[in-house]
Amino acid sequence: MKHGWLKWASFLCLAALAQAEEGKWTPQQVLQLILTNHHCLFGIRQEHSRPDRDLITNGFLARSREEELRGSTTWVAIPRKFTDVTKEVEAAGAAAGSGDLERAKAADAKQKALIADCEKTPEARCRVAAFDGGLQYVLVETMELTDVRLVYAPPRAVGDYGGETDNFRWPRHAGDFAIARAYKDGQPYRPEFYFPISQAGVKPGDFVMVLGYPGRTMRALTAEEMADQRDYLYKLREELYGQWIGILEKVDAEGAITVAATLKSLNNSHTNAQGQLAALARGRLIDKQKAADDRVMQWAAGRPAFAAAVEAKKNLEKLAAERRRTATRDYLFQAIQPGPLALKHATALVRLAAERAKPDAARDADYMEREWTRLRAAMERDQKSFYRPADEALFTCYVEHALNLGEEERIAAIDKVFQPDSIARTVHLLYEATRVTDGSERLKMFQESTEQLRARRDPMLDLAFLLEPELRAWQTAAKTHDGAVARLRPEWRRAVIAYAGKPVAPDANSTLRVSFAHVQGYAPRDAVFYTPQSTLAGMLEKNTGEEPFALPEKIVEAARGVDAAKIPIDFLANADTTGGNSGSPVVNGRGELVGANFDRVWENVANDFGYNPEIARNISVDVRFLLWLLKDVEKADGLLQELGVKR
Ligand code: ASP
Repeated sequence: MKHGWLKWASFLCLAALAQAEEGKWTPQQVLQLILTNHHCLFGIRQEHSRPDRDLITNGFLARSREEELRGSTTWVAIPRKFTDVTKEVEAAGAAAGSGDLERAKAADAKQKALIADCEKTPEARCRVAAFDGGLQYVLVETMELTDVRLVYAPPRAVGDYGGETDNFRWPRHAGDFAIARAYKDGQPYRPEFYFPISQAGVKPGDFVMVLGYPGRTMRALTAEEMADQRDYLYKLREELYGQWIGILEKVDAEGAITVAATLKSLNNSHTNAQGQLAALARGRLIDKQKAADDRVMQWAAGRPAFAAAVEAKKNLEKLAAERRRTATRDYLFQAIQPGPLALKHATALVRLAAERAKPDAARDADYMEREWTRLRAAMERDQKSFYRPADEALFTCYVEHALNLGEEERIAAIDKVFQPDSIARTVHLLYEATRVTDGSERLKMFQESTEQLRARRDPMLDLAFLLEPELRAWQTAAKTHDGAVARLRPEWRRAVIAYAGKPVAPDANSTLRVSFAHVQGYAPRDAVFYTPQSTLAGMLEKNTGEEPFALPEKIVEAARGVDAAKIPIDFLANADTTGGNSGSPVVNGRGELVGANFDRVWENVANDFGYNPEIARNISVDVRFLLWLLKDVEKADGLLQELGVKR
């Protein structure tokens, strides 16, 4: 199988292969460093930046262990064990009777029990992952290392060279990597397996593979469900995030650094949404899916063994139609999470207080005790991103959208608190009176009960209390929907897979996958061909001195001493990747590390809906660029030695 994600079993084989390579490595040579993307460790740099120490702009290099910077919300999960638990989860659902909500709840309870049992093992962090919408459930046990320290990150102008202009684009010249060290019991963690660095690098035609955690793809959806994603996710996101970005871009100099991380993440999702919409249309992906669905339906219709699949497909369509009625409102509920911090925190605090009063196993999964440390750390860290004028403006925009919803989709709490002609003023008054936006006060609220929160008479919390029943009703409807999908999708997928007559890689679900590929260019349009490797020469060519193409002087200086066309930066391959694959190691056929994946090309953003070999290209940063930076720019000899680089 040339393309597509395989499941974890393949990874274990490959990892074993990597270890079987020749070499009796000394402990000093054994890599204790994690190589990932620059943007993946943005949080640590933000956390440790101060007005007089701007690590976001300048990057960071620890010249000794003592100088490394620990991130409070960064952790590493090392896969340890995978167990098929399909039978257990299905049996629990079946025993609960015929209601979709009851079955979904019973399946949830079973998963929580499996996770609780799994986490009795020291340091274990577990989850149950559903494949193919519930055709298979796998209990994934990882070892979690929560002490992760930043060792090196290049300046932003290198790591994020090209910024949003070049995001999801080729040719690309971003040195999008960073190095961290994970600690266990206060000592650097030494992994059992690792990929030694290849100094030979890659060339066109070379075999490479990407190992990582692709987040979510939607290839198993029916054509109608795909159209809903287009209309009720990407189109709405494009609009709302576009407006939020406009607001954050206008923030004054005082707030610009504070909102930088939020702006970057909104920009990334917004560009992604635009790419999805453009590529869905260009590739006519939904029409193609419709034709594919029809072929399976026809095939299944003539086979009694697949009668249930035909029924399931029809019912999936009915479910989707049902969901469409409140899809815009549902989208706005989802947008609380990436949206104004005051609303996000107030709703989370209200929910946490209610959930804390229940026994742990009865709590919403996101609010179980195992999540509290993380929730609290995120609430604390978010203060670094809070700039009140910006947050107020985002909130005002959010309320405008909510007040514009159709008759069937009203949000009663918003209707009650806001009037169309005075939104900004009401929002302003809320922010004047609330303490939710005060970092230390918020952490006190984190411990409080529902009664205590209510007694505060804080208007932002009161708004969250008003919203709470509506959010609960929405989540219950979503759970009922999930229960129905878990009943129907596996039936339908069985027919799709039987029709294909060969293994079909399941959609991405943030579990470990491997994709096999070759380094190669592509034709983005008629009469244009992109070659697959970029170099320092191209980086210098793009350097206008203006953001986002403003190289630090030390790079320009170091480049004078080398043949820039020979220093590789990024490369393309046809690996099957998506969001979440950032930082995924890219290794050659000998199990040596040649790069780190960090993006896809514009034409390929909608590969989430279907793989097109002509344009399926992922973008990786070449490890040789990291070595050049460490050697010629940073003079970080100690680090190079640790990376096992012979000089
Ligand atoms: N940039 C993405 C990520 O952050 C990767 C991608 O979308 O291809 O995971």
